[in-house]
Amino acid sequence: MALILISSERFAEHQTPPGHPECPERAAVMDVIAREWQRQGGEVVAPPPATHEQLARVHDAGYLERIAGTAGRASVLDPDTYTSSESYEIAKLAAGAAVDAVERVMGGRQQQALALVRPPGHHAERAQAMGFCIYNNIAVAAAHARTVGAARVAIVDYDVHHGNGTQHMFESSPDVLYISTHQFPYYPGTGAVAEIGRGPGEGFTINVPLAVGAVDADYQLVFSDVIAPALRQFKPHLLLVSAGFDAHERDPLGGMRLTAGGFAAMTMELRRVAEECCEGRMAMVTEGGYDFLALAESLRAVVSVFALDRAAAPDWPASGSVPPSRGRMAVAAAKGALGSYWKLP
Ligand SMILES: [Zn+2]
Repeated sequence: MALILISSERFAEHQTPPGHPECPERAAVMDVIAREWQRQGGEVVAPPPATHEQLARVHDAGYLERIAGTAGRASVLDPDTYTSSESYEIAKLAAGAAVDAVERVMGGRQQQALALVRPPGHHAERAQAMGFCIYNNIAVAAAHARTVGAARVAIVDYDVHHGNGTQHMFESSPDVLYISTHQFPYYPGTGAVAEIGRGPGEGFTINVPLAVGAVDADYQLVFSDVIAPALRQFKPHLLLVSAGFDAHERDPLGGMRLTAGGFAAMTMELRRVAEECCEGRMAMVTEGGYDFLALAESLRAVVSVFALDRAAAPDWPASGSVPPSRGRMAVAAAKGALGSYWKLP
């Protein structure tokens, strides 16, 4: 099969305080998904740690030193972000898994790769840990992709939170298109529709903030009217996905109502675009997702998309009587902010 999973039991070794939502049990859920994939004949490999050089492409040297200094001890990096004795090693493994996903897909060994990692990464800034994130895994992956032949890289981030760190790292670059749809207003506060990038990167940051309570049909509109058309015009050489599952209806942090079927449908939309633009090359890296059952169901749904023939594409789930009013508002706002940069239907 064309998809490879990158997974390690070691991701459970990054400990957070009791009751913290980003807990080691999340790694056990990811492990179950990896074993299921293996039983279906799919390939699963363990990641190498990221190198200093790979991390230093997006993180400040002083920050890398500070994180290295937490090795072997517990520390508080930000009100939500903690290290335990193994966190330095495990965070390097998470970023390394993202790099490995890029290597495999860009090297043509696999068409798609999914890195099942924790801690997540998209809130981590150049010189600051934030929101459970230590290294910005997806940004490390994007920067690496640029060095191995991907002149244009697109990142789609459907985590319920805005990926402030990823946006900031690439907001001045026309070579990395960052597209996020997220609950807004909400943590971390960034991700307004008017944030469209800076200087030469103007237009290459696309934020589609959605009001709390959005359902599958709202996301369907956002994908069909903004995300897919922009990706097709940008024509990335590699599609990266910040795959967070905290917009699931069961998630204790997010206020959205996506179902596992919605995650499958979003993934199929992205797979189609990748097949049209870049021979199917897609590297996905997990972000949030704090309900164990929802995380398992959603990951299973994403993985299943790659076990299917494209002709057997999953439909978007019917959202019952809920009209996609949040999606319509979000799409209209995005067209207003970005209509001069992208042809949006
Ligand atoms: Zn999140």
